[in-house]
Amino acid sequence: MPSEIVLKGIGICPGIAIGPPFVFTKTTLEICPGLIEDKDITNEVARYRRAIQKSHKELEALRREFLQDLVGEGLALIDAHLVLLRDPEWMKSIEEHITEQKNNAEAAILATLAHYKECFSRLKDPLFQSRFTDIQDVANRLLKALSHRTKRKIDKLPPSAVFFSDEISTSDTFWTKKAGVIGFVSRKGGPTCHAAIMARAQGLPYIVGVDVSQVPVDILDTVIVDGETGVIILNPTLEHRETFYTRQKELKAYESKKLKDAAQTAVTACGVPISVKANVDYSDKLGPFNHAIDGIGLFRSESIVMDLRLMPSEEEQFIVYKELLDKMGQKPVVIRTFDLGGDKNVHHNTTEDNPFLGCRATRLLLREKHLLRAQLRAILRASYFGTAHILFPMICALDELLEVLSVLDDVKQELRESHVAFNEKIPIGCMIEVPSAALIVDKIMRHCDFLSIGTNDLVQYTIAVDRGNSLLNHLYNPLHPAVLRLIEHVSKEAALKNCPLSVCGEMASDVRYLPYLLGLGIKEISVNPRLLHTVKEAISQITLLDARELAVNAL
Ligand code: PEP
Ligand code: MG
Repeated sequence: MPSEIVLKGIGICPGIAIGPPFVFTKTTLEICPGLIEDKDITNEVARYRRAIQKSHKELEALRREFLQDLVGEGLALIDAHLVLLRDPEWMKSIEEHITEQKNNAEAAILATLAHYKECFSRLKDPLFQSRFTDIQDVANRLLKALSHRTKRKIDKLPPSAVFFSDEISTSDTFWTKKAGVIGFVSRKGGPTCHAAIMARAQGLPYIVGVDVSQVPVDILDTVIVDGETGVIILNPTLEHRETFYTRQKELKAYESKKLKDAAQTAVTACGVPISVKANVDYSDKLGPFNHAIDGIGLFRSESIVMDLRLMPSEEEQFIVYKELLDKMGQKPVVIRTFDLGGDKNVHHNTTEDNPFLGCRATRLLLREKHLLRAQLRAILRASYFGTAHILFPMICALDELLEVLSVLDDVKQELRESHVAFNEKIPIGCMIEVPSAALIVDKIMRHCDFLSIGTNDLVQYTIAVDRGNSLLNHLYNPLHPAVLRLIEHVSKEAALKNCPLSVCGEMASDVRYLPYLLGLGIKEISVNPRLLHTVKEAISQITLLDARELAVNAL
């Protein structure tokens, strides 16, 4: 047996994983548009046609599921996609790109999609314009069907494996969750990157700062990952295996006890109640912690896109939002509109030089208004069934907020005219996660009903430190006075106008930083559900007087 090797990285999510390693190379997942040679044309056309057949089968299977659930509109949508898949014009264009331009199937689909996008954007009627989403959905399905090489690689992923990759994207965390991965190791990444947020929510360890290419995983059968200390043990000795199995058991017992104890309400040592809500994703099964939260303070709706690797239709979204509201009874559910872009990117065909400063979140939705409209329609329709709130991410200027609000007004009017029930008074919120928004919060508040501070982004944009860069983790400091001053400014302005304010970034889930937030006047937070008990316990141990003293010193 090869001897034991111990590596040291930076643990960014606690927990212990013991299992077989799996190395993932990014290139296997990416869609690779490119050119082909003359001799490959026939094969490429055949490959494209096989992708159509495969997509057809998937849609048929989906259709059968919808039939069982009697979801009428969903059925109509699948039928439309089935027709689009074999639309003669569409097929002709793609095949011509392959045979005449010598594009591979992926490039041919992307070129045809770009052409359709251009044509649809020239249409006057927004309703027709919005149908482009369906074409995009069909194209994505085909691209996915073409990436069979990826599938084969993924199929080799053993059950309960530790996942090694140079970088772990947000969408990786979705499919690896389905595949039952138990821990992560990568070179890139930081505590507030989305992959880390997802890993933490699942209670999985995650270690960054490790040069994965140097890890000889092919000759290993077992690795141990300790997310608390950042230690990775390759080929552990029997003695080490036993020690870590015991620690893992103790940790699990402690975790499940904590989950039970999380039900008590959060009150500071001086008796002030703090509202604690949860941040959830599409793939989170609301259940064990439902009773312990005051509502959902952040539903990252883009997680639907990341999980399905497709843009969901209005109907598909409506089903998700309604289910969430049903589960939460009358408790509030804050649905954030798609925060796509940055490190949450499923469309590999869109590359930007600076994705975090690029076409992200609300900026993206204002460019692709059909997506915004469909999402707002879905949320509004669902709002009839519970206490939904709408939250807009990455608002950087007042004009942006006014523009999304005018689309919201339009969509509301459309629903009224079609006699569709919705909550006319649905509260509208704005994320404060960019310094410009924090500094003009007095203006922003005039147009919305609540605010939510996204510290993950606020920190990265204030001190210009990429939240996902492991080389800069030491500089990513939520206690930087500039960050605290921005939070204090927002908190004071909100208090002045009685505007509800919460903090939903990871800073609120971290007991090292939470007292500072309380000292800056924050009375409402939304946290990673796994940390509910830890957070509530921390709240119960601090008085607001002490918290204020801490904050004043740090400011
Ligand atoms: C944030 O930026 O703090 C936030 C909650 O949003 P996300 O982590 O999804 O960017
Ligand atoms: Mg953010």
